Amino acid sequence: MVKETSYYDILGVRPDCTTDELKKAYRKLALKYHPDKNPNEGEKFKLISQAYEVLSNPEKRQVYDEGGEQALKENGGGHGGFTSPMDIFDMFFRGGRGRRERRGKNVVHPLSVTLEELYNGNVRKLKIDKNIICDKCEGRGGKKGATQTCSTCGGSGLVVEIQQFQPGIIHQVQRACTDCNGEGEKINPKDRCQGCKGKKLLPEKKILEVQIEKGMNDGQKIVFSGEGNHEPGLEPGDVIVMLEEKEHPVFKRAGIDLVIQMELQLVEALCGFQKVIHTLDNRDLVITCIPGELIKHRDMKCIPNEGMPTHKSPFDKGRLIILFLVKFPETIPPESIPLLESALPPRQEIMIPDDAEERDLMDINPEDNSRRRHRDSHSEYSDDGMSGGRRVQCTSQ
Ligand SMILES: [Zn+2]
Ligand SMILES: [Zn+2]
Repeated sequence: MVKETSYYDILGVRPDCTTDELKKAYRKLALKYHPDKNPNEGEKFKLISQAYEVLSNPEKRQVYDEGGEQALKENGGGHGGFTSPMDIFDMFFRGGRGRRERRGKNVVHPLSVTLEELYNGNVRKLKIDKNIICDKCEGRGGKKGATQTCSTCGGSGLVVEIQQFQPGIIHQVQRACTDCNGEGEKINPKDRCQGCKGKKLLPEKKILEVQIEKGMNDGQKIVFSGEGNHEPGLEPGDVIVMLEEKEHPVFKRAGIDLVIQMELQLVEALCGFQKVIHTLDNRDLVITCIPGELIKHRDMKCIPNEGMPTHKSPFDKGRLIILFLVKFPETIPPESIPLLESALPPRQEIMIPDDAEERDLMDINPEDNSRRRHRDSHSEYSDDGMSGGRRVQCTSQ
């Protein structure tokens, strides 16, 4: 159960909605109440944006679900404020159709990162290849005034051809002008810029320093504004570095918690143990379970503040959750059984009816076809459950 629903109500979604439903709801409402369309609904536009900002961030959403708006304010860690509604709008629609049609395409670079890097933070260098406007000709491709509008296409870069496939059926086909290669303009070869050979662009290698901050998430985007390819007449788009978290052999992430599995021998589970956990920042934690404090198979315990750091508030850490897997010994020496019996709670006494039939217990081979097993031995075991198994047996006899 969530504590409050007002953010969900603003967006008109249910508290259990998916990220996609959230995006859809935001897209619809943000377009409807955008100040360009609805200048009197500025307050509503702001509320939609704030609700979306919180609910689209899994950590903030969790905080809000658990403690409502009050918890968000307390949990802000200095980051309590909201992004401006216009920025949220631009971030959401960037790359798509909308206000920014004069921008070049954004380029997304995936960057594979380890859990250690997301825990400790790191700076990674990312080499990108991009095109930049030639500064020798300032993107004209030639000397000033050397560019001439292509007379073949009139500067549109496109020509229309009329094709007749069959008598009476005429097709109009648009294709790129071959005289100017679809550029709409021509440069006299002798006036061409030496730097870019008239292409207006030059390839450039650039190294971006990607700041991986503590607590960042898989799929998180780091935006390098305006670092995309240059194109004549367009604002360069962004380079978006998208983090891809590598699977860790020991630690699994669950929100801001970390989960590990720990095998215990039966003796440890029953009689206590000490174990050392090597953390993602190279510390060693020792945990102790005192004798008599039993751990059962699949019991879970946690160590507070040893989980993942919260992004933007790295001193707030989640829990380290330990899932214990108890390993039973393969055999026990018969002479120690009386000792074990005396230490464990007594067995339950059972009454065996006089006409009870004796049967042997067999191991189950999972590769056995369950149908055949039904026919061969009168086993009532079945992969699809006891009752199903019985039914099959009845109909086949
Ligand atoms: Zn042309
Ligand atoms: Zn040039």
